[in-house]
Amino acid sequence: MRTRLAPSPTGALHLGNARTFLINWAIARQRGWRIVLRIEDLDTPRVKPGAVDGIVRTLEALGLDWDEGPLIQSHDLEPYRDAMRRLAESGMAYVSPESRGQIEDLAASAPQEGVHESVFPAALRPARMDSQFYEGGEFNWRFATPDEEVVFIDGFAGPQAIRPSRSIGDFVVWTKRQQPSYQLAVVIDDARQGVTHVVRGNDLLDSAARQLLLMRALGLEPRPEYFHLPLVRGEDGKRLAKRHGDTRVESYLGRGVPAERLIALLARWSGVPGVLERMTAGEFCRAFELSRLSSEDVVFSAADDRWLLEGRRG
Ligand code: GLU
Repeated sequence: MRTRLAPSPTGALHLGNARTFLINWAIARQRGWRIVLRIEDLDTPRVKPGAVDGIVRTLEALGLDWDEGPLIQSHDLEPYRDAMRRLAESGMAYVSPESRGQIEDLAASAPQEGVHESVFPAALRPARMDSQFYEGGEFNWRFATPDEEVVFIDGFAGPQAIRPSRSIGDFVVWTKRQQPSYQLAVVIDDARQGVTHVVRGNDLLDSAARQLLLMRALGLEPRPEYFHLPLVRGEDGKRLAKRHGDTRVESYLGRGVPAERLIALLARWSGVPGVLERMTAGEFCRAFELSRLSSEDVVFSAADDRWLLEGRRG
């Protein structure tokens, strides 16, 4: 059994990412899954210099560890090219004309809530598809999404029935920047790293269906079990982001807030009972129970921020 921590170095870890990683790590340690670290740095325009080191240092400062990796996606694109060759040969991917440029930029990244994704209809597929994958042009390659419902049981969110042909249509698998898209890279890496359990934010629930279709098209195994967890939001109900102030874990650490204070807040947000002032990752792991995790999103409030800062080392 194997899971992965898969941060994108598009910015520093904030409290929302930290909660998901902490829970993923704790479940893995409780159940004896191996943990692989993977740096998802293919979304190059959004990758921030220094973010990889910052994320690794922050995970370590919180007391998380892993057994393998990091695998850094950008270091070797050959496994993704190989997948593209297979998709093209089997008529499941095709060159998509530049004229749909408006929606292309979004396609490289992991989808985020609030970012509108256009449906790309099968009707726009070319009459004749190339059976050879090639690179170099200013165009994307899309997956010819089969029109079917994908059914799976999410280990946290329950039974799912998602029809990607309706929610997204033909999605990008290789971008005009000559890189695999998030969706393609994830399935290749989950398979080659032997990932059996995926724990992540529920903004990626819809993507799971796309990923299952891609895995089947490529004959990849194992089919992972998914756990899509609620997100952390600001008081305005929006997903935690810059507008909610500086909620980066490294900023709190830099201001003297101990990791144990941060974990105590994440624990309170994760259904761990008791009055918690400070907690280590190890203590969190012993106390956390997935069945007590609320399916409601968490709200990060100004009071939480004050509470963290009150815990600064004197
Ligand atoms: N790298 C993605 C993110 O940070 C997570 C992808 C995944 O877990 O599949 O949003």
